[in-house]
This record gives sequence, structure tokens and C-alpha cells, in this order.
Amino acid sequence: PYNGPSADEILAKRKAYLSPSLSQLHSKALNAVDGKMQYLFDEEGRRYLDAFGGIATVCCGHCHPDVVEAIVNQTKRLQHSTVLYLNSAIADFAEALASKFPGDLKVVFFTNSGTEANELALLIARLYTGCQDIISLRNGYHGNAAGTMGATGQSIWKYNVVQGGVHHALNPDPYRGVFGSDGEKYAKDVQNLIDFGTSGNVAAFVSEAIQGVGGIVELAPGYLPPVYSSIKKAGGLCIADEVQCGFARTGSHFWGFETQGVVPDIVTMAKGIGNGIPLGAVVTTPEIAEVLTRRQYFNTFGGNPVCTAAGLAVLRVIEKENLQKNALVVGSYVKERLNALKDKYEIIGDVRGRGLMLGVELVTDRQQKTPAKAETVHILDQMKELGVLIGKGGYYGNVFRITPPLCFTKEDADFLVDAMDYAMSKM
Ligand code: PMP
Repeated sequence: PYNGPSADEILAKRKAYLSPSLSQLHSKALNAVDGKMQYLFDEEGRRYLDAFGGIATVCCGHCHPDVVEAIVNQTKRLQHSTVLYLNSAIADFAEALASKFPGDLKVVFFTNSGTEANELALLIARLYTGCQDIISLRNGYHGNAAGTMGATGQSIWKYNVVQGGVHHALNPDPYRGVFGSDGEKYAKDVQNLIDFGTSGNVAAFVSEAIQGVGGIVELAPGYLPPVYSSIKKAGGLCIADEVQCGFARTGSHFWGFETQGVVPDIVTMAKGIGNGIPLGAVVTTPEIAEVLTRRQYFNTFGGNPVCTAAGLAVLRVIEKENLQKNALVVGSYVKERLNALKDKYEIIGDVRGRGLMLGVELVTDRQQKTPAKAETVHILDQMKELGVLIGKGGYYGNVFRITPPLCFTKEDADFLVDAMDYAMSKM
């Protein structure tokens, strides 16, 4: 039983003492008291299917017993800074993580967040190439510090930062983009930016394979191979931001970049990597990693023993429970059912994504693609009342984000789509 303060009391404290910029997913905020695998429970013990938590942090399921055990055991033994001393938890996870990458990608830098990972990746690319120019995508999200906010391509997430040599390329968005699903045409815009917007040399190109915050936008097929070759010719490095689409989420592949058949020079990750524990990482080649030895580089807690113990447990759970295959099987099933809903409701303009990273874009007019923002908020609230939590995203706030923990089952999938169906039928 829960004896803590009520949702209203917590909300009052939040208003009085926490950042006024904190956002809230539902009109009536959920008091998330307990979590167990794909479920959350409120103060009354009411159960909610958490079909968004997979990206919010949890990859294996809330409080997965193996991950909790690893965290508790390491906490009892030692928690300390990552640097200064040797510790097997850190080295073991680095080794296990490196084994998940192709080619020469085997040097791991740990951080505390996705923002830090991307900041470090941009720094490394600039040091390695001696160039400043970065190319990123419109509609991408890479973090909330100066450099990553500059690289982010959405005004709604940007304050008055100096863009810092960042050029934002046309987004290869199959639904709203000017060239539809023609990846090669969008790729020419990157070459164009290099030719006409830089000295001809760049430091890096950075992108997600499936944009998360941007509303589950899967890059048009055939986009990354020509972009990577343009960047290479301009002396730059290719950075894959796997903060949301990595760790088996796409089902077909372990990493999002693999869906486009490319191998990046630097990969960044966070969120699901620690199943809720603050952890991020940058993985690159020994040759590129060498640039950081030019000065002293220090991160007190990035990849400390407790967080890396969690990371190693996560990798083991993904393998032991066959979560990549589950993401593929259950994700394909959810997508198929969502596509059937699209045939039933005009308001669904697009269903997209891969594995357990799916998006449903709502429009009031399929021809004009007018964002159905108010309807999105309404259905999100209604689904919460029915016991299903999904996310929201996209520049216009009209895209449902379905990114559950990877242990999501077919029964969960049916409950989710049935709830969406019911909420839409009552509109
Ligand atoms: N990259 C991507 C793709 C993200 O979605 C996010 C977070 N939404 C980040 C980077 C930044 O991660 P963090 O919030 O951990 O700093």
C-alpha cells in the first residue's frame, strides 16, 4: 500500500519548488508509484500499460529483477568515480558493449546522458578533423547543452544558442519531406551544403536513424550511404545518434544505423543502455579516440561502477530474453494492427517506424496533412483513463510515440490498439 502524498500534493510541490519549464504528458498527471516490467502503478494501485517507457529510459522493463540485482550488489560493494582507480564493472561493460559493434568501433567513453555523449562526439570529430562545420538534420534532436542544442533541428527545443557552425540539411522525411521516400535526392542536399555552405571540408554529420523526439521519422531508404560517402570525401566523420533507436529496439537490427547498411565512425547512446540508470556512451575507433589524449579529459561519474553494472545486466537480459526478436515480432504485429486502424479512421495520416519504435501521425485532413494537435492530446488523455500510456512527439505535437519496454507482449499490443480504437471511436 502507498502512504505517500497524493498526486495533487505532489503537483503543488512541483509547482512551488521545481522548474516551471517541466512539461506534463497528460492533462491530469499520473502519480507513478511503482513499476514492474511493462506496467506502472499509481497511488491507488491502478495498473497502466506503459507503451512509452521504453524510450523514456527502460529497455528491459521497469525494475527488471536482473538489473535491480546488479545495481544493488554493486552499490553494496562500491560506488565511486569512473576515473582514478581500476574497477571490473566498468571494464567488463566496455568489453561487452564493444562486442556489439561492427568494424573497428571498440573504444568506449562513458557519460551520464545522451547530451553529454553527443557533445563529446562533436568535440572528438572537431579535434580529429581540425574542422568546425557540422551537418545535422532538420527535425533531429541531439541534446540540451550548447553544442547539441545547436545541432538539434527543431525551434521548439532551442533557446538562443550560437549555432556553432552547424548546418541543418533537408530532413529525409518520407511523409512530409519534399522528395517523399527518395533517399538519394535528400542526400544531394548534404553534398550541396558541403559545396556551397562550407570550405569544402567538414567535421561531421550527425543523425538518428529513426528520429524519436521528431515524431518517429524513419530516414528515407537509401539516404545514409550517399550522405556518408559525401561526408567522408569532405574529410568528415559520420556520427550515429542511437540514443533512442539503439539497443535492439528496431527488432530487425541491434543498432538503428544498420537498417541503412552503413558503418559510422562514432556512435552515441544513452536512455535504454542502463534501463533507467543515468548512463551514456560514445563508441569510436582507436585511431579517432586518440585525439582526446591531447589534453586531460575527465568525467567524474560517467560510467561509474553502479551504472556500468546495470549496463552489463541490460545487455545480458536482451540476449537471455531474446528481446530483439520480440521487438521484431511484437512490433510488426502492433504496426499491422495500427495500419488496420488507419483504414478505419481518417484522422490517422501515417503509421510508421520499426520494431518497438512506432509512430502514428494524426491529421485533420489527409490531403493537406493538417496536424490534429488537440485531438492527439485528447486521445492521449483518454487512453490513459483506459489504462494505456503512450507518448507524443513531432514538431506539431501530433504524433503518438509507441516505444514500450522490449518485453511488450502480443496481448499488450492488442490492449494498446483496442484502447486507441475505442478512444478514436468516441471522438
Ligand atoms: N539524442 C536523442 C536522439 C534523444 O532522443 C535525446 C533525448 N531525448 C538525446 C540525444 C539527449 O539525451 P539526454 O536527455 O539523456 O541528454
